[in-house]
Amino acid sequence: MQHRIDGERLWARLLAMAQIGPIPGDGSCRLTLSDEDEAGRALLVSWCAARGFALRRDAIGNLFFRRQGRDADASPVLVGSHLDTQPTGGRFDGVLGVLAGLEVLETLADLGLETERSVDLCVWTNEEGSRFQPAMMGSGVACGILPLEQVLAASDADGVRVADELVRHGYDREPAPDVGLADCYLELHIEQGPILENTGKTIGVVTGGQGIRWYEIALHGEETHAGPVPMALRKDPVPLLARMIDLVHAIGGRDPQARCTIGQVRTHPGSINVVPGRIEMTVDLRHPDEAELDAMHDALMRGCRDLASSHPSIGLDVQLRWHSPVVRFDPSLAKLVRQSAERMGIAAHDMVSGAGHDAFHLARRVPTVMIFVPCRDGVSHNPREYASPEHVAAGANVLLSVVLERAMSRG
Ligand SMILES: [Zn+2]
Repeated sequence: MQHRIDGERLWARLLAMAQIGPIPGDGSCRLTLSDEDEAGRALLVSWCAARGFALRRDAIGNLFFRRQGRDADASPVLVGSHLDTQPTGGRFDGVLGVLAGLEVLETLADLGLETERSVDLCVWTNEEGSRFQPAMMGSGVACGILPLEQVLAASDADGVRVADELVRHGYDREPAPDVGLADCYLELHIEQGPILENTGKTIGVVTGGQGIRWYEIALHGEETHAGPVPMALRKDPVPLLARMIDLVHAIGGRDPQARCTIGQVRTHPGSINVVPGRIEMTVDLRHPDEAELDAMHDALMRGCRDLASSHPSIGLDVQLRWHSPVVRFDPSLAKLVRQSAERMGIAAHDMVSGAGHDAFHLARRVPTVMIFVPCRDGVSHNPREYASPEHVAAGANVLLSVVLERAMSRG
């Protein structure tokens, strides 16, 4: 028997949540631990309380709502995502995974289905990282990857600390449930890219996430007046910048799964009539295969060395600033997602996640998988972000099916 979620109830809740911190063009702004974020959480708490799902909170403000299973000692099935948004966020990023999780708990309750394992809905604090850094803070603490004391001290642009906001909203330093003891973690999310839409598929079976490396590169020349100094006597770093851009984009073009982005270029002093004395640029390299990412790194380093020797008057400094390894989700959970979609006649497509998610942290502790649904034009982190009611319901139905497979099984 194939159980189904209530698509209309889920859609109505997505729209209701979007009314908290509304911004023009159907978007939402609920920055982490702001009044709006707290109001969104309070709305969710009221929905869960009405159904009797018990709430626990931890020291970083993560929320855990439980629908109790038959065996209180069995490791629970976790579902979840985040409610915080970017400053110009959409209605679906994160919210979909949370409210679809609630919809799964409610559907189980409506059907009077007794699961063997408890099912916990998790809301992770500060996934977005726009007000406080680092991103994926709550899941990082829950998984023992980020030290609690360090993230409590993180402050926003106005000097307000995470710890201050938690106290202001009445969060106690309650002991956290150990997510490492969970049976598995499942997260439904909009794709935030164009692949499902372009392939005409409804469900993305997310097999893992791209590895990411961030570099800061500085080109040192000599600051001079744009008029009096002849071209041949300048130490102008701009021609080398041009070669660097070619180098990085050639690395990005080496195979279809590679991604290279130069997101920031700053010239100093940044004046129209001054030859820049220094240029700083960032490079973001991504690939779903760690060996390929290593090869991209090597190509960048080799290319920089070659360029440095062909431009001896310019100093070239390359620093690897951050590294997030390739993430592999649990193959047996991915198979369950694929089979569930197939059983319901929903077209599915294996893919890797290009964006970071809380599930990346969870995957280091418990078997984890993500389920993607299409979002229109691949737009996300923007008020135009949109997923259709049909796709939202399909994603939640696949989530329900995988939850049932795991929650009905004995350990
Ligand atoms: Zn998200």
